[in-house]
Amino acid sequence: MSSTLIRGAKNDLYQFLSYTRVTEDAELNDNFKQRWSRVAPCDANLSLDKFQLIRTLGRGSFGRVVLALLKSDSTNKTDGNKFYAIKVMDKKKLVRYKQIDHTLNERRVLFSLQHPNTIRYNFSFKDNSFIYLSLEYVTGGDLFTYLRQTGKFIEKHVKFYAAQVFLVFEYLHHFDILYRDLKYDESMQQIECFLFFFRPENILIADNGYLKVADFGFAKYVAGRTYTLCGTPDYLSPEIIKHKGYGKSVDW
Ligand code: ADP
Ligand code: MG
Repeated sequence: MSSTLIRGAKNDLYQFLSYTRVTEDAELNDNFKQRWSRVAPCDANLSLDKFQLIRTLGRGSFGRVVLALLKSDSTNKTDGNKFYAIKVMDKKKLVRYKQIDHTLNERRVLFSLQHPNTIRYNFSFKDNSFIYLSLEYVTGGDLFTYLRQTGKFIEKHVKFYAAQVFLVFEYLHHFDILYRDLKYDESMQQIECFLFFFRPENILIADNGYLKVADFGFAKYVAGRTYTLCGTPDYLSPEIIKHKGYGKSVDW
């Protein structure tokens, strides 16, 4: 697997500006560091009534993700089109399950990432009961559903998808971000291939067919080792279960 990063012009993956090693790309490194050091504030002017809620896109552990249309009179945050995927998280559940730090990490990581294969974050807001993360709306559904419908992917497609996941991990790990929530599916072990061990429901398919890695709920900056037991129970890595500390290997 090459250690190159595909850099797209804004959200257009087809316009590859350059193929650059992450480690050698000064602009990319500076961008990330600048964004990482800035705390992304919640937008005090936004509230849910400024959106028309269209449908539920998916359910998660602490709420759901809804497709929402920003009503035209409200703000100028249009981001090209006015559809957003809004991740709605129940504050009570976040507190009960001790997920406050994870949620702050999620927002900070999302805010800092600028990679064509990771989901784009727009803004966040809150009210008394919920936290709302506004994300780009990815139209193609998740890779797991697609894999289930297809039965299996041909090798060419596996390479195409796996390469993009590799690039995202290379990018995240370069900035010492662990992802910790990639899933695999044992029922698919008959096919001995990296991607088929996944239950890739956190990987979405964009309208141009390329992947977008979503759900940074367990992503964390770890320069060294960490001991936190987290992830989706069925898919925890041995390193996490042993509780002796883990680093980037946890994602592979
Ligand atoms: P959780 O952290 O609770 O697992 P996710 O962020 O994974 O929540 O979102 C739950 C589901 O919502 C995903 O599996 C996916 O189907 C859908 N979803 C999440 N983000 C988007 C998005 N930006 N566009 C379209 N669907 C999304
Ligand atoms: Mg998820």
